Parts: sequence; C-alpha cells; structure tokens
Amino acid sequence: MTSPTAPLAAYAAHDDRTRGRRYPEPSPGYRSDYQRDRDRIVHSTAFRRLVYKTQVFVNHEGDLYRTRLTHSVEVAQIARTIARAMRLTETLAEAICLAHDLGHTPFGHAGQDALNDCMRDYGGFEHNLQSLRVVQELEERYAEFPGLNLTFEVREGILKHCSLKNAAQLGELGERFLKRGQPSLEAQLANVADEIAYNNHDLDDGLRAGLLSLEELVQVTIFRRHYDAVLDRYPGLAGRRLIHEVVRRMINEVVTDLIDTTSAAIAAAAPRDIEAVRSLPAMLVGFGATVAAEHLELKQFLRKNLYRHYRVLRMTTKAHKVVQSLFAAFMEKPELMPPEHWVHARKLQGDEGDAGRARAVADYIAGMTDRFAILEYDRLFDPSERT
Ligand code: MG
Repeated sequence: MTSPTAPLAAYAAHDDRTRGRRYPEPSPGYRSDYQRDRDRIVHSTAFRRLVYKTQVFVNHEGDLYRTRLTHSVEVAQIARTIARAMRLTETLAEAICLAHDLGHTPFGHAGQDALNDCMRDYGGFEHNLQSLRVVQELEERYAEFPGLNLTFEVREGILKHCSLKNAAQLGELGERFLKRGQPSLEAQLANVADEIAYNNHDLDDGLRAGLLSLEELVQVTIFRRHYDAVLDRYPGLAGRRLIHEVVRRMINEVVTDLIDTTSAAIAAAAPRDIEAVRSLPAMLVGFGATVAAEHLELKQFLRKNLYRHYRVLRMTTKAHKVVQSLFAAFMEKPELMPPEHWVHARKLQGDEGDAGRARAVADYIAGMTDRFAILEYDRLFDPSERT
C-alpha cells in the first residue's frame, strides 16, 4: 500500500489540469481549486439543510439515526481513505461526496419518487440532476454568478447517472453519457463509497430501530462471516460493541477489496492521465467478484427487510401524500408559495410554460427539510394551524 504522503498518480485529477469553471475565476491563492469547491459546498445553504433530511428514518423519529448530512460525511470519509490510498485527489473525492445529495428531497427516496411522479409530464425529477441544479443555479451566494461555480470535475462527479435525453441538454457535462465515456477515478470511487456507506449504516440504523434482528442478519453471508469472527475472538461480546465490531470489519473488508481490485484494473489499463481514464470503455473502480456478490446480497436483504418494513412503508406512504399534496396545491396556485418562490415560478412559466412553473414548484419542495415539509402541509391543509 502507498504511503499517505506519496505524490499523486499521473491519472489522478490534478488541480492544474482542471477543465475549469463555467464563469472563469482567478485561482485561489492559498487553496487548491478543489479545496475551494469543498469549502463552497460546506458553506452552502443546501448543505446545512441535509441535517434535517431523511436517510431512511424521518428526522423526528430519533436523534441517533443517520440523516443525509451524517450520511454524506460518512461517504466522504470512506472516499477520502480510498482516494489517498490510491494516490488520487482526496479533496476532489471529498467535495463530490459532500455535494452528492444536495438535491435530495425531504423524506429520502420516498420523497424523490413522489416528486418524480408529480413531475412526470414536466420532465421528471431526479435527485442527481437536482444536486447539479443546486450548485449551478439555485444557491445564491455570489455577486458574479448563480450557484457555486464549481469546477467541471466536481460537477462531473455529482452527475452519477443521467438519461440520454437529459444528457443531450447538459453540454460538456452530458457528453460522457452520449459518448459512453467515464468520469474521473475520484468520481467513480465517490459513487462506490456512497454504496458502502449506506449498506453499512442502514444495517446499523435498522438494528438500532429494532426493524432488523441479528437472527435475520446472520443469514447474510458477509455479516455472518464477520459476526462469527468477532465472537470467536471475543466470546460473550454483545450489544452495541458486538454490532460495531462486525460493521467496522465489513467496511474494512469491502474497502480493502475495492482498493486491491481497482489497483489491479488500473495497472492493467495503464491510463496515462485523467483524459485516458475518461475515454476508457468501462469504469476502473470496482469490487472483486466475491465481494461484489456479497455486497449485492446485503443490498437486496436491506431492500426486502428494511426499506419495505411495514413501519418504513407507513412513513414512505405518508411522505408521498405530503409531497403530492404540496405539489398539487402550489402547481394550481403558485401564489401560495412564499414570494421569492412564486416570482421564480412566474419567471420559469414565462420562459418554459407549465413545465417551467412545475420546475419552480419542484425546486421549492426539493429544498424543504422533512419537518418544514410537514409544517407546510399542516399550514396549507390543517385549519387549526396558523398559516
Ligand atoms: Mg448518498
């Protein structure tokens, strides 16, 4: 393994080779461009809202569950470890991870699905694209440009996937989907770090909430292997310490496998630089076959036993109702939104017709935290609530 102070690999995203920003700016004096991007993300309004947005459990269900903010921080931690071990640009990977969920709706995937349903006739809603919209258009912090004016490399990393139809409208950023190219290695690993983080922390949260049991989890190959190893070494260990010992070993195993497998793939492909990485036919970052299968097994287990647990389903059903009701009310009467959003809706309606008005409503709803969405719902539909 490389030393933590080893110089960057030739195929890393070197700061001095960035494709730059939409609105040219002088280089920051005492930071790299990617440090500046990371700092802009941390200071953004959308980033602070993540603390009150659901990962799996709605924010008010308990103080100890992951929120989208702590999720993003965990993703960034895993990505930074991998990036540094592989001599890639740690700060770029970190910036992508911290920004990857900025466009997420309230109520997690239930909110995203509901808003996508509402937007079906108006171009759909996709949280990846919305994250991009947040950093390119919606944040209002700088006199000279809308959004955060981040480098191409951070925006490329935020846009994990994209339909060809949408890609065609995204210019330089959409190109790789049309030409079947790849993003930087930093973007590729940020994407996998996201999966590693949620598989493991959702398992932990599910156990904490009592929605998953150890009896069920020992049916999952990777969990069982580490569970047995921990009890072998520490007979009688129980409770939180047992679970944490198992989870940290699971994360360590998949991260180690990812680094080993990816290093071998890079050695075989021998990309000269980041442009060579971008023009390869497939991604280089990935797990070996065994870990890939086990990781998928865990993901499917969580889908079946946690994400579709009746208590989670009750929450997601409620979330659908809140999002759909808000959308319908604001779409019918945009003046019900606070003035700045109503003005935004009027402007987009003028530019793009009904689809523009719908987009402005989606922007307003997507920006809400869980509790704000519930409060707005009450203010609109509960006669006893103040407006
Ligand atoms: Mg995520």
